[in-house]
Order: sequence, then C-alpha cells, then structure tokens
Amino acid sequence: MSWMNPVKKVILCEVGPRDGLQNEKNIISAEDKVRLINGIVEAGYPVVEVGSFVHPKAVPQMANTDEVFRSLTFRDGVEYRALIANLKGVERAAACGCRKVKLNVSASKAHNIANLNRTPAETVAGFGKCVDAAEEGGIAVSGSISMAFGSPWDREIPLSDVKEIVEAYLAVGVREISLSDASGQAYPTQVYEMCTEMKAAYPEVTWWLHFHNTRGLGIANILAGMSAGFDRFDTSFAGVGGCPFVPGAAGNVASEDVVHMLDEMGVETGIDLDKLMEVSRDVAKLLAHPTDSYLLRAGKAKDLILDLPQRQKNN
Ligand code: ZN
Repeated sequence: MSWMNPVKKVILCEVGPRDGLQNEKNIISAEDKVRLINGIVEAGYPVVEVGSFVHPKAVPQMANTDEVFRSLTFRDGVEYRALIANLKGVERAAACGCRKVKLNVSASKAHNIANLNRTPAETVAGFGKCVDAAEEGGIAVSGSISMAFGSPWDREIPLSDVKEIVEAYLAVGVREISLSDASGQAYPTQVYEMCTEMKAAYPEVTWWLHFHNTRGLGIANILAGMSAGFDRFDTSFAGVGGCPFVPGAAGNVASEDVVHMLDEMGVETGIDLDKLMEVSRDVAKLLAHPTDSYLLRAGKAKDLILDLPQRQKNN
C-alpha cells in the first residue's frame, strides 16, 4: 500500500443520529436529536444522516424522524439526509422537507434471497420507482451497499457481485454510492484493492465508505480508502451504534477519533474538533452508558502536556 496519500481534504457525514441512535433501547426525543444535529452542523459537518423513514415498528427509535426534520433549521450548504426502504419513505421525506434520501441493499445474495426472494441487483432495479418519485419531488437519491466487504452469511462477497449492484444502481440513475461494512469484516489491504478497482471501473460514481469499528479496524480502513483516493466517509459521534443482526457489532468509527487523526495529518475537514467533542460528550451523557470513543477518554494528543516529575533529591 502506498502511503503517498493523494487525499488532502475529506468530506465527512455524521451518521450518529441514525446509525448510532437506532440501536439505543431508550427512545431519544426529537428535541434532543435536533440539539445534537444542530451541534454537529455548528461544528462544521457538511453532511448529516438525520434518521430513517422506515416502519416505526421495525425501528421505533426512528419513528420521530419526520418531527426532527420539521424542527430543524436547515443551514445552506449542509446536506441533511435520511435512509429510506421504499416509496413510502420518499413520500414521508417529501412531506417533512427532507431533500436527500439513501437507499440500501445487502451485497449478500444468500441473505437477500432468503429475506426478499430476489438478488441484490433485482432489489436495486425495484428502487427505480423510488428514484423517479424522489426526482419528481426534487429529492436527491444516493445508494448504499451493505456487507460489500464480507457478510455473516457468506464466506466472502465476490467483487463481481458488488459490481453487479453498482451497475444496477447506475441503471436506475443513482450515481452516489456508499460501500458499507456493517458487519465489521473489512480490512485495510482489501479496502485499498477494492476501492482502487471500483474507482477505475466506475469513474462517474461519487463514492462513500461506511465502516463499523467492530474489530477495531475502522480508522485503518478509512486510511486505506484515502490511499485509494476515496474522500467521503461516514462517522458516528462518540462511536455509538451497532447492528441488530450482527453479533457483537460496534458502531461506526467515532467522529472525533477520525477528525483528530485527520487534523494531526494536516488533512482538511472543515470541522472544529473541540465543538465536535462537546456534542459527543452530550451524546455520552444522554445515553448514560460507556461509548467507543478514544478521544472522549484520552483527549487530544495536542492537549497532553504533563508537568515533569521533580527529580528526587538524594543526599
Ligand atoms: Zn452502519
């Protein structure tokens, strides 16, 4: 892997309000979510995943997403996106002022066929009507491919399977695509090779990477993606999150850990780390349980100035 890193500026999306909070047992109020999202935008995040428009029985924590959107004051130049599963999601987005939605499919053929009786590419082809309806309503659409780097149901996901899904997204008019490692199985050399291949094969795609830190490789995988020229990544405040059907799943790599690393490396994010850490502390307090954030525990490296020990006087 080359450490001649071509990326000098990255765009981060804060997915904590959706991917992070959806796994919490206690429902977080719309008011609290709005405060956290405004804080994240104030810290400088250009993209925030606010919530999801899915069935409230399936994900009760996201049932107030419409209310959250209605209560937000949208800042110019900031993208407020939501995850959707179908046409109903587009309708809910349109009704509450959401202007950007994200669709998702699992790259696991076995899982998709068992669940939906369709291959992932067939599922994506079925998204065509969502994309058309969204565009009619002035809503932009992106697509995500979860389990792109491996899945709990398959030994491995062939690259040709992932390409088939990318092509299905392109065929329905989606050109912004996220490769997601929801199960925490991706590793740096694999990420570098896959990203290099994808970038060369589909130069028209705007790529995102979405890593869960389940096995501690989230930040290493981000670096590997950067080495391949990828510059858009999802992160989660305080590192909160998980995945309901993956044993031991952790959240996305902590936002403040990523911004800290990029600051130290001189890579531009436009994000104020101190303001971001205030929001992450607020999240940790609100959830009242330990979270996976190195920075919240240890602080910034630059702040670490200890008094030197007094030399022992021996006479
Ligand atoms: Zn995720």
